[in-house]
Amino acid sequence: MSYRNPTAVLPTHEVTNMPPHMGDQDLWSSDLALREGIAREGAAWAEPQLADFGQVAGREEVLELANQANRFDPELKPFDRYGMRINQVSFHPAYHALQDLAVAHGLPNFAWNNGGAGAHVAHAALNYMLNQIEGGVLCPMAMTYAAIPTLKASPEIAKEWLPKLLSTTYDKRDIPVGEKTSAQMGMFMTEKQGGSDVRANSTRAVRDGEGYRLTGHKFFCSAPMSDAFLTLAYAEEGLSCFLVPRFQPDGQRNGLFLQRLKDKLGNKSNASSEMELQNTWGLLVGPEGKGIKTIIEMVQGTRFYCAFGSSALMRQGLVQALHHTAHRSAFQKLLIDQPLMQNVLADLALESEAATTLSLRLGRAIDEGEAGNQEAAALARIGTAIGKYWICKRAPNHTYEAMECHGGPGYVEESILPRLYREAPVNSIWEGSGNVICLDVLRALQRDAEAGPAFLREVESARGGNGHLDKALDDLKEALADHSDIELRARRLTEQMALVWQAALLVKSAPAAVSDAFCASRLGAAWSGSYGTLPRGADCNAIVQRARGLG
Ligand SMILES: Cc1cc2nc3c(=O)[nH]c(=O)nc-3n(C[C@H](O)[C@H](O)[C@H](O)COP(=O)(O)OP(=O)(O)OC[C@H]3O[C@@H](n4cnc5c(N)ncnc54)[C@H](O)[C@@H]3O)c2cc1C
Repeated sequence: MSYRNPTAVLPTHEVTNMPPHMGDQDLWSSDLALREGIAREGAAWAEPQLADFGQVAGREEVLELANQANRFDPELKPFDRYGMRINQVSFHPAYHALQDLAVAHGLPNFAWNNGGAGAHVAHAALNYMLNQIEGGVLCPMAMTYAAIPTLKASPEIAKEWLPKLLSTTYDKRDIPVGEKTSAQMGMFMTEKQGGSDVRANSTRAVRDGEGYRLTGHKFFCSAPMSDAFLTLAYAEEGLSCFLVPRFQPDGQRNGLFLQRLKDKLGNKSNASSEMELQNTWGLLVGPEGKGIKTIIEMVQGTRFYCAFGSSALMRQGLVQALHHTAHRSAFQKLLIDQPLMQNVLADLALESEAATTLSLRLGRAIDEGEAGNQEAAALARIGTAIGKYWICKRAPNHTYEAMECHGGPGYVEESILPRLYREAPVNSIWEGSGNVICLDVLRALQRDAEAGPAFLREVESARGGNGHLDKALDDLKEALADHSDIELRARRLTEQMALVWQAALLVKSAPAAVSDAFCASRLGAAWSGSYGTLPRGADCNAIVQRARGLG
């Protein structure tokens, strides 16, 4: 927060060499990688909305709401005062204010309400901007966005639920969906005995008239105040997908019993609960026995969120580091002008730009895939896993380095850095943890005949633009052709694919200072992965100026 004329001259000393408060941020104008990506990936038509939201979401008062929503944890209210079961979670008003802001700007449904070229690109950009300020509120946005295509495949369910999910009016009331102006969706798959391996689920579903009755438990249920959840349970034909609303058709509360809320490392504003399902009413979504296939479409959507969500965390960490070092001196020189700090900042900037660029490119693949382009759909399929793995893997260390650029004050809760840092690992863990995602890349390569060729055509289109990239392309093709110990090598292979893809995108679209340094470091011989290790010859100053929006 900034304060009017804080007193710098104190009885014992004068406060000097401290940066000014950042005040309002313009999350759109200053982010050249974002703006250029939006134009390049087909979403130029959305620029007015994005520019507007960049100013709105970057306001200091939104940051303050985010701070409050994370400082005052959600509280479980299983019973009312008379001992009757309500299974509610009570949130700080700041959380609801953030939800209001997000839903009003279409964060859960912009892509579906607009459609066409650039819709998912613009959708990602809107969410990316708010995610820089607050990650927890994005969880229900992600699950609602991701559930919509799954529900579209079930016309009866879609008729009741889609108008509410596509609404841009936030309605926090815990009442049946028919009485609400809008609704949100959750997705509960993880059980105690298995999260990655959902076939280990023990929840059972038995037919009950038009619906089913589910009995069992779910171990991680985020945004449990959502109006309905997609979940998995074993029916006669096998593991099946069900829509479970908070209220049954007769208006009675459904059998969803919140056991407790998780005490999490970060993502504090968002409640994550444990739940028991007792004779819980649900509707089958998709065919019985095809639950994984049905829900996997949804998982692709939430994994897309993880990729651009982690890009957002990196961008905001970088913005903070640039601001601090531009105003703080050590040894008679601004930090931002010191060669070694420039190397760190430039390296952070490269990572941030590469992540944002890849996320937006992925958005275009999703857009084009939806329009019926098979090659784009195949790229989106494998690219989502590649992007989710690598971008999320790079974010925790990135937020930590951005914190370290601040010295001690970065470690203190008054800055946003600790919150970004605590938020960073979750995108890598949920929606398929790192190993599982790399195995999914292998699955895409093995089972989708189009995925590998689509990916290679994409990256080969940059051949000739950079010597390091050409060599890395050859190495990658060799690695892909070698099927020995493929599972053991899945992380390395996915990392190679991600780096080559990011490099190819930057070679084709970014200024030479950015693409040259990215290729020389990430694809050069001796990359340690640590930030601040760009090789001699990298134009750190140009990269830093661009990251500040001045390039
Ligand atoms: C804050 C938070 C909120 C969450 N919210 C939800 C939610 O709303 N809904 C929901 O369904 N889930 C949710 N989850 C759960 C999350 O999706 C799971 O924790 C995750 O999928 C991993 O499952 P698991 O915890 O059972 O770990 P496990 O499946 O036991 O995996 C443990 C580790 O083993 C690795 N591993 C698994 N299989 C293999 C293999 N074959 N080879 C090599 N390594 C392997 C994994 O990558 C992981 O690193 C949430 C998690 C968190 C942290």
